[in-house]
Amino acid sequence: MSSFLQKECDLKYFHDNGYFRKKCEKCKDYFWTLDKNLKVCGDQPCIKFSFIGKPICKKPMSLSDVRKSFLSFFEKNGHSRLHYPETGERCPVIARWRSDIYLTIASIADFQPHVTSGEVPPPENPLVISQPCIRLNDLESVGVSGRHLTMFEMMGHHAFNKKVDEIYFKEKTVQLCNDYFVNHIGIPREEINYKEQLWFGGGNAGPCLEVLAGGLEIATLVFMNMKEDEAGDFEIEGKKYSPNPLNIVDTGYGLERIAWYTQGTQTVYDTVLPEMIDWIKKHAKKSSDMKSIYSLSDHSKCLAFMLGDGIVPSNVKAGYLARLIIRRSLRFIEKIKLDASLKQLVLMQVNFLKKDFPSLKKREKQIGEILFIETQKYKETISKGKNLVKRILHEKKTIDQNELVNLYDTHGMQPDIVKNIAKGEGVTVKIPHNFESMVAELHSHEKKEEACSDVAVNLPKTKKLYYKDHYVKEFDATVLWSNKTKDGSEVVLDKTAFYPEGGGQPSDIGFLKNNGNKINVKHTKKVGDAIV
Ligand SMILES: [Zn+2]
Repeated sequence: MSSFLQKECDLKYFHDNGYFRKKCEKCKDYFWTLDKNLKVCGDQPCIKFSFIGKPICKKPMSLSDVRKSFLSFFEKNGHSRLHYPETGERCPVIARWRSDIYLTIASIADFQPHVTSGEVPPPENPLVISQPCIRLNDLESVGVSGRHLTMFEMMGHHAFNKKVDEIYFKEKTVQLCNDYFVNHIGIPREEINYKEQLWFGGGNAGPCLEVLAGGLEIATLVFMNMKEDEAGDFEIEGKKYSPNPLNIVDTGYGLERIAWYTQGTQTVYDTVLPEMIDWIKKHAKKSSDMKSIYSLSDHSKCLAFMLGDGIVPSNVKAGYLARLIIRRSLRFIEKIKLDASLKQLVLMQVNFLKKDFPSLKKREKQIGEILFIETQKYKETISKGKNLVKRILHEKKTIDQNELVNLYDTHGMQPDIVKNIAKGEGVTVKIPHNFESMVAELHSHEKKEEACSDVAVNLPKTKKLYYKDHYVKEFDATVLWSNKTKDGSEVVLDKTAFYPEGGGQPSDIGFLKNNGNKINVKHTKKVGDAIV
């Protein structure tokens, strides 16, 4: 593995600019540095943060400053800014194209799987983007670790290279990255190390360089050049890979981390959410509970994006995740005895964000209504829940982990509420420390496609008109296959503009016309290459 990385990461740029390849004494990984005598890679936990309280950059930068500097630097260097066709602004935090996740977890998710596989050309090439992302897999660390956030922006410059007419790949990526950090963020050259790593995920893999400064990973430069392939020669963790038809530059720059690095505040929250933290501190009776204040400040921003981008709280898919964050937030409000509603907090966030994200402001009314209703529902749940928990205890004498998940999933009862009620009945309930990230994880991925019958496997292929033009509303098509079902019938057309269910998006609905008869289309799904 290390010889593979050595070959892949042995860049002319490093040699021309005086870098040395060293092996970290602690983690044993290899890294490139300008300091010949350096013994550790510069990543956590090999070293501690060195920028807190004593920022190394001359000028502290806000999130807007960093975003602006990034987008304009790459624009000046030949990249197009990506505008999302439907809103004219940006891609939403809802994963539109990936069928295995509900939320946008990285900027590359905007292009997976159809652009990264080469099936659809990229909207611009090369392009630059700052993508709001949400990750809920480390919920218990948010507000606690000083560096975990649920909502963050991943800035990236991406190039999609075919085998001919390469746009740029490893050499220029590192050169652009270093130029940006040194000349536009003001990080001294010798502070930046590049650590060699192997990256894999979502069916792709490739070498990557982690960009480290002050103990913080401020960017990751991934060179996606392999795809999962049973016949491939290269093996990572039991899976085989072969060369990808495209060589993709997939970079991720942490907007919040870069701003934090320039400001050197005690936690990332103090850089990212200062106004909200101050306001909550002033209005909370328990203003010393900083962990809850940080969490609530983070969650209210996350909700501004979730609800502002159109997620409606529910018991399934992305809606489930939104409700999870709403209920966590309501618990924090109770815990710190805050004299404000969640609706008030999220609408304040919308106002803080309106200059950079005007689309959220446009949805202000709906966001407010949703939060009002959800807060009511939460209160009802608690009063109903008391009797329910008492009944379970009467029957089973105890409440185990499965019962906790069931109470949460079907009745919306948070485990600590259950614990309190049970305590009143003299029963001790143990809550797994990672309960919420556990249920978030259980609900973050689309279930595997249902097994298809023999008939379905041989379905004809459908041409997908929605990839060419998002706005197609009407089209002519030929029925290639049809089948009677218990509620009606299903058909496969030679081409379709109906978008199938997937990636947290419900399917399109509409109607088909045949010899003057109108037939309603209630649901659309993807089965292999067919749209049924
Ligand atoms: Zn190390």
